[in-house]
Amino acid sequence: SSIGAAFDTTVRRQAERDALVVRHQGIRWSWAELGERVDNAAAQLLAQGLEPGDRVGIWAPNCAEWVIAQFATAKAGLVLVNINPAYRRHELEYALRHVGCKALILAAAFKSSDYLAMLQDLAPELAQCAPGQLHAARLPQLRLVIRLGDEVSPGMLGFSSLLSEPAAEARARLDAIASAVDAHSAVNIQFTSGTTGSPKGATLTHRNILNNGYFVGRAMRLTHDDKLCIPVPLYHCFGMVMGNLACVTHGACMVFPADSFDAASVLQTVQDERCTALHGVPTMFIAELDHPDFSRYTLDSLRTGIMAGAPCPIEVMRKAIERMHLREITIAYGMTETSPVSFQSATDDPLERRVSTIGRVQPHLEVKIVDEGGNTLPRGQRGELLVRGYSVMLGYWNDAQRTADTIDAEGWMRTGDLGLIDEEGYASILGRAKDMVIRGGENVYPREIEEFLYRHPRIRDVQVVGVPDAKFGEELCACVIAQPGEATSEDDIRAFCRGEIAHYKIPRYVVFVDEFPMTVTGKIQKFALRQAMSDRLG
Ligand code: ATP
Ligand code: MG
Repeated sequence: SSIGAAFDTTVRRQAERDALVVRHQGIRWSWAELGERVDNAAAQLLAQGLEPGDRVGIWAPNCAEWVIAQFATAKAGLVLVNINPAYRRHELEYALRHVGCKALILAAAFKSSDYLAMLQDLAPELAQCAPGQLHAARLPQLRLVIRLGDEVSPGMLGFSSLLSEPAAEARARLDAIASAVDAHSAVNIQFTSGTTGSPKGATLTHRNILNNGYFVGRAMRLTHDDKLCIPVPLYHCFGMVMGNLACVTHGACMVFPADSFDAASVLQTVQDERCTALHGVPTMFIAELDHPDFSRYTLDSLRTGIMAGAPCPIEVMRKAIERMHLREITIAYGMTETSPVSFQSATDDPLERRVSTIGRVQPHLEVKIVDEGGNTLPRGQRGELLVRGYSVMLGYWNDAQRTADTIDAEGWMRTGDLGLIDEEGYASILGRAKDMVIRGGENVYPREIEEFLYRHPRIRDVQVVGVPDAKFGEELCACVIAQPGEATSEDDIRAFCRGEIAHYKIPRYVVFVDEFPMTVTGKIQKFALRQAMSDRLG
């Protein structure tokens, strides 16, 4: 079915229950209240001259309008384009032009960036045009700009005008369009995190992400009694699919603690709202667990959640289970291009498996591990992971070459990740193929050394990268964030490794840093770290 139909079913079934809580906006809406806003916005977007298939960009941090836009565009047969909040003028221009957005919804400003000023620079014609009538030289397809917030800006529509009651014809047109939406049509263009370079726009259908959200929620055993705290960004699949679509398909309540990640606001929200579930990338869970006031918060309402998006250290999983009451927390593995999740542990998997693997393949998906020549390897062997099935994207938007390089003729999607699947089907990710270090002919998986170093009591976070070396080709460098106030040294860290791991895996360099280069999705950009360390040590 389409996302609009699934959304309407939940609105009908549990109209009076809580649907959405947005703490930083003071919003608390039932499904009926959210449903009415979504319907109005969908009809108003169509009344503005948008046609099914048109692309609507959204450039804003997490907020209620984002959620409305997600479901309103889906109902109206439009394609929502998630624009990274970290983008600046040049990247915004590229995204809007590349995808040919006809409309753009934007926040006026976010953090220290003035989004409006950046857009007005690109489209000075806004000042002279009537809303919906833009013709800008640099953004030729863009007609309509909708801004969040209460103020009025020349040439733009205010988002609140989308929420007013539409005319009867507009409502009738929406009904006709919504009931004809094809589940195989595009609903969303999501940009990847940009962990390994520049982000790519993955085109996803209703069938892709709606089903994925459903299975993600099912693995967590979500029901309408659950309240899911979502501190991950909506612009990314973690927020909009594993968060919002998992909630909609199981009737759970979506709770947003803040417009961007902040550990204290997450802890406060879980306590105040009695959230039962919590999502996050590993670095978010680390920040919450290490927060100086952690023990002051009451988190005993928590039951489950998902840690995903990057390798999940066993120690962090254990702490989340023991100290945050997340006894049914699961690990999920996926990528934007596969809607995203392809592996997820189940709440009843044995604890050891749950903290150390990404679980088993999701229903209705096929996976295999291949060697460099593309030959399928037997269970238990290491190689690149490939995925096939309902969740694989249509392709990268307007980039047939890249799509063909990534999805083969038989429909197998290359993940670029190294993994292994054991006899019982539990899988482990060893890291990205590109991050593997070859030192003196030995393959070294940074992930394995990071796991080991996480056990060092004075290490708060660690990343291992390869740096060029004249003798061995590459040498290992451990970049360490030490626990605050606790002194440790290079020698101390190497001594910790000696006798415990093979000599060639002991980092030749240990560099102490204050932070890692991050994407907005909270992921560590290893390529940037590797570059910085190579410049420093090479
Ligand atoms: P880009 O493709 O732009 O470089 P990205 O790959 O980080 O960025 P996403 O689609 O957000 O963009 O992330 C998918 C990747 O995240 C996976 O390919 C994998 O490397 C990593 N990942 C996701 N979940 C896990 C997990 N549970 N364990 C290990 N790695 C994971
Ligand atoms: Mg990727």
